Amino acid sequence: MSDFDAIIVGGGLAGLTTAYLLAKADAEVLLIERGNFAGAKNMTGGRLYSHSLEKIIPGFAGEAPVERRIIREKISLMTDDSSVTVDYYSPGLTLPGQDSYSVLRADFDQWLAGKAEDAGAQIVTGIKVDDVLRENGQVFGIIAGGDEMTAGVTVLADGVNSLLAQKIGLRAELPPHQVAVGVKEVIELPAGVIEDRFQCPSGEGSAWLFAGQPSGGKVGGGFLYTNKESVSLGVVCTLSDLITGAATLPRLLENFKNHPSVAPLVVGGKMIEYSGHLVPEGGLDMAPRLFDAGVLTTGDAAGFCINLGYTVRGMDFAVGSGECAAQAILAAKQAGDFSAETLGCYKTALDESFIMKEMNMYRKFPHFMENTPRIFAGYPEMASDLMNQLFVVNGRDQRHLYQKAGRSLKTVGALNLTLDALKGVRAL
Ligand SMILES: Cc1cc2nc3c(=O)[nH]c(=O)nc-3n(C[C@H](O)[C@H](O)[C@H](O)COP(=O)(O)OP(=O)(O)OC[C@H]3O[C@@H](n4cnc5c(N)ncnc54)[C@H](O)[C@@H]3O)c2cc1C
Repeated sequence: MSDFDAIIVGGGLAGLTTAYLLAKADAEVLLIERGNFAGAKNMTGGRLYSHSLEKIIPGFAGEAPVERRIIREKISLMTDDSSVTVDYYSPGLTLPGQDSYSVLRADFDQWLAGKAEDAGAQIVTGIKVDDVLRENGQVFGIIAGGDEMTAGVTVLADGVNSLLAQKIGLRAELPPHQVAVGVKEVIELPAGVIEDRFQCPSGEGSAWLFAGQPSGGKVGGGFLYTNKESVSLGVVCTLSDLITGAATLPRLLENFKNHPSVAPLVVGGKMIEYSGHLVPEGGLDMAPRLFDAGVLTTGDAAGFCINLGYTVRGMDFAVGSGECAAQAILAAKQAGDFSAETLGCYKTALDESFIMKEMNMYRKFPHFMENTPRIFAGYPEMASDLMNQLFVVNGRDQRHLYQKAGRSLKTVGALNLTLDALKGVRAL
């Protein structure tokens, strides 16, 4: 007889969702988080797409500590001294089920941990899980702080660098080109200043992604999300580029913050938090074995994250995979069988959910990003040159618009542009 039906390693959104759902179904569940509280070590850009959590806790945004509902989307292509921005505002962004919210994980994860505890889950913080217990390939619990605890299923919800999944051979070490590093500053500003600068009413906000200058022309980009009384400003770069490149990530963030298009947005603000974290960017190609006898991997530990350049999603996948894990554990508990065969229903649940459908759909996108450096160094310059041709009037240039546009196109070449567009469309 095991101590618990399930032991969950990691109190991020993936682990907490599983804990909440299992506890609600009267399963005996223990979640162990190494941080001093759930969310203490967690970081995101970040914007949470609501759809997956809404299914589990309807109306959650009314009670959870969300920051602002996102009503404005912006994307900028940036050179060192210019930026070209698409600005999209639409009430469609806020319709139930397709709304999204800026969040700060230290607050948000603690709220979800509270929900799980209220439902009956046991949550222990400040303890790191050191190893899993295994016999004849069957995982049957964990070792933490020198103690052994047993469970029918152990859930590895321990984030992108899941050392436990590596330890038991579910995944290899992360290759540097499949993982990015993000650094973020939370910059405090009065709510009214945020609403003026980002053209948002009270309680609503803006999500803004940037390509080109923020990552020094390499794969990656910058982000800015408005919170209630702060903005989250950060840069993400592929680890392999950081290893071989000259610039450090803190330097890139400083350059981004001082860009003439960004500096006025944060001027007068006070940095109140600085954090760094890995991001899984390899898509399905970096997914580990998702389950084995007595063990499941969820969220970032399973590589469930997609960065499409115009949107970054990991939190809705963490919640969705946490739900699939809970379903599989309850089915295994019911059958009294925690073998790999029975836990295979986890993969079936993932396949039937948005998770595998979208991970499969965007499978080629990480390759497209990696093999199309012009997105980060080439197109931003081209867009800036084109805007310069359109908007600069000096009385000396009497060429037609198509001639001016042709000159800008030459900076990357019409053929390259066509091929990249075709490849991009196919990858999306
Ligand atoms: C810079 C950046 C920007 C991002 N922007 C967005 C965004 O805007 N929108 C979005 O949806 N996603 C975004 N993501 C991705 C998103 O944050 C992640 O996909 C999501 O947080 C994954 O949740 P998780 O629960 O799987 O993992 P995590 O949140 O990483 O949680 C893992 C937990 O496990 C704990 N842990 C690890 N090892 C152990 C151990 N041995 N013992 C005990 N506990 C352990 C950790 O302390 C942590 O609490 C971003 C990520 C980064 C880094």
